[in-house]
Amino acid sequence: MSFRPPKGTYDVVAGASQPISDPQIWRSLLGEWEVWAERFGYPLTMTPVFESTELFERGVGGSSEVVTKQMYTFEDKGGRSITLRPEGTAGVVRAFLNAGGQGAWKGAYSGPMFRYERPQKGRYRQFWQVGVEYLDAEAPDADSEVIELGYRYLTAVGVPGLELRLNSLGDSECRPAYLVQLSTYLNDRREKLCEDSVDLIDVNPLRVLDCKVCEPYLTDAPEMTDNLCDACRDHFQSVKTSLEALNIPYVQDPRLVRGLDYYTRTAFEFIGTELDAAQNAVGGGGRYDGLAESIGGRRTPGVGLALGVDRIVIALGSAEAASIDVYIVSESGAGDALLAASVLRQDGLRVDFDTEGRSVKAQFRAATRSGAGTTLVMGGLDKPVDVRTGGSRLTMPLEEVSDWMNATL
Ligand code: AMP
Repeated sequence: MSFRPPKGTYDVVAGASQPISDPQIWRSLLGEWEVWAERFGYPLTMTPVFESTELFERGVGGSSEVVTKQMYTFEDKGGRSITLRPEGTAGVVRAFLNAGGQGAWKGAYSGPMFRYERPQKGRYRQFWQVGVEYLDAEAPDADSEVIELGYRYLTAVGVPGLELRLNSLGDSECRPAYLVQLSTYLNDRREKLCEDSVDLIDVNPLRVLDCKVCEPYLTDAPEMTDNLCDACRDHFQSVKTSLEALNIPYVQDPRLVRGLDYYTRTAFEFIGTELDAAQNAVGGGGRYDGLAESIGGRRTPGVGLALGVDRIVIALGSAEAASIDVYIVSESGAGDALLAASVLRQDGLRVDFDTEGRSVKAQFRAATRSGAGTTLVMGGLDKPVDVRTGGSRLTMPLEEVSDWMNATL
């Protein structure tokens, strides 16, 4: 077969050789996400994978690289300009406004996003984000709660070397004056900065702070957090105080600006410090009080979070987890194994067996390959089964297997 997945994409399928394609780890990360999102009160939210291009131009912002360089945009057969969503927030805020949303509202999403990037490990053209949006929420505790959800989830799934970085980007009250100050500083150093940064000075000077190449020349750049208005300073202080009360460690990072234009006040990123530095952000988010208005809605303050599942998979390394609990080896034919599997599955176990009537030896090989911790050998439906786990072997009626496994393993 000559077809491969398109550049910058990959398959998640059983039997693939790269660890990132392991279905079991994806399943468990997405399942665990639902559990944590619900614990924090975020119901499932689904919006289209494509939206009108203008939504992203206005919502994400015309100076962000995501909009200027990375969107998958095409004209549909009706002549509309359509874009595959490069991020989740603009669509969710649109959906909230269309639903006539009033009052505090929460939603959690999970799905593929699309950006035309230069593909490399941890950077794909189709990638999976899970995230939440908390809308019509203005108070700093909303920020803290969203950050806590990300932190608890990433800790629960076991991302090694997790670090939370935090900054405040100010608001329309204090940011404009700061940007003038920053632009002046950057213009004074124009000849030292890279070409991309020079281009950004007039469009979005904050993004220059993000540039790894220019970093050495910007060590004494003015910082937003030294220039916050009273309201933004109080907000930021309050977020930090709550995080401390929640025992969530953070590093204040005055260079943290994030790639999308819509952020105000709180901005944060979760870093997997054991990942390659260029792609070590496993998630991020912040407050976007102006977004709803920029897409034509009423003023709706909000705060959100998006985690990159592909990178979390990479951070966790190759998965050891098995996808099934029990493999049945039947000496009395596949028909018996089908019925025995049905009993155990209804008891809640994850079970597999060979439907093709292969030899007992071949079935044992399949059991080993399956990674199941338990192999169950049966010689007929009316006979007790032989349960093999680790080094031990026990004989018991089929009906007792799940209770025994729950009690012992
Ligand atoms: P952003 O929407 O840019 O704030 O991204 C949020 C998170 O999504 C990042 O921290 C990454 O973990 C992940 N992410 C963003 N772009 C990509 C990409 N091209 N490939 C894989 N993951 C990505």
